[in-house]
Amino acid sequence: MSAVITIKNLKKYYTKKFPKRVEIKAVDDISFKVNEGEIFGFLGPNGAGKTTTIRAILGMLRGVEGEITILGEKIDPNHQTTYRSKIGYIPGELGLEGDLTGLQMCEYLSKLYGNAFHLDEIQKIATRLNLDINRPTQELSKGNKQKVGILAALMSDFEILILDEPTSGLDPLIQAEFFKILKEKQRKTNCTVFLCSHILSEVEDNCQRVAIIREGKLVEISDITDLKEKGLKSFHLEFVTNASLKDFISYLQNEIPEASIKSQSTTTIEFLISPEKKRQLLHEVSGQEWAGEFVKDFNINSASLEEIFMKYYKTNDKENSEEMKR
Ligand code: ATP
Repeated sequence: MSAVITIKNLKKYYTKKFPKRVEIKAVDDISFKVNEGEIFGFLGPNGAGKTTTIRAILGMLRGVEGEITILGEKIDPNHQTTYRSKIGYIPGELGLEGDLTGLQMCEYLSKLYGNAFHLDEIQKIATRLNLDINRPTQELSKGNKQKVGILAALMSDFEILILDEPTSGLDPLIQAEFFKILKEKQRKTNCTVFLCSHILSEVEDNCQRVAIIREGKLVEISDITDLKEKGLKSFHLEFVTNASLKDFISYLQNEIPEASIKSQSTTTIEFLISPEKKRQLLHEVSGQEWAGEFVKDFNINSASLEEIFMKYYKTNDKENSEEMKR
């Protein structure tokens, strides 16, 4: 599989001057590849370095260290590059304040980058997104402005789509429609999609691989299926009595204090544990009596991407996140 985006040892530091001089490591030595035709998720909490990475990929930043290769072309800030016209980009914040209508905006962008302008295609997408392309963009609501951005990225057959929070401000029906259109486009053109999102179910449902960035560092890069398999396990146990449940909870707190309880009722409990503890717990759960009763019922599932992700960001303990990577 050939790499369409290759990032090697990328660094971008800023200097904050007030109230005192501090160096901010927005992106701190990250390396990864995005393969042709995949939908690649890029996740991280606020301020993690996602937009900085995207802006570096798009050649919009100065003072970047490292190497970025797009479609076989190395980005050189001192020379004109040709790759930009092959990328459809939805920025995190769309500054659409002019008099141009959505349609005129698409026309303008296709001229700017020398891309084909298919009125039919634009009208079809706009109808599916429920967007009036003949209204000036400055009059549009936040969600409708976002749709203009989507339209501009999906109107041509770009080889790469870089989508920074593409569904921000869209209602759930339109979010779902957007992903339907994106997947149709992806099937038709085999374009490569780099998707940055805070909506984890969106990444889980649509991406094949995911990278997680935190404080400028990559903390995970994995196939989503592998990440879920090697990630946390979610145990759901049902006891006969409340006394049995209490007995079990005190065992859990003593023996596996890192277990994170998701929910609890009088006789049931659901919690997350690392896969290494699964065997130990299975043994205890199936063979032991708790306040004189065996467990009534139990099931084990892989944690959702959301639960895995939360665990990454809740802990500041580096060792803990190292453990999760194993
Ligand atoms: P969000 O999810 O909130 O959009 P992000 O992951 O996209 O966050 P970035 O915008 O890449 O994060 O910012 C990474 C870090 O770099 C943050 O600490 C941010 O404050 C800092 N930063 C970004 N741009 C600048 C700038 N122009 N000057 C100084 N610091 C900056």
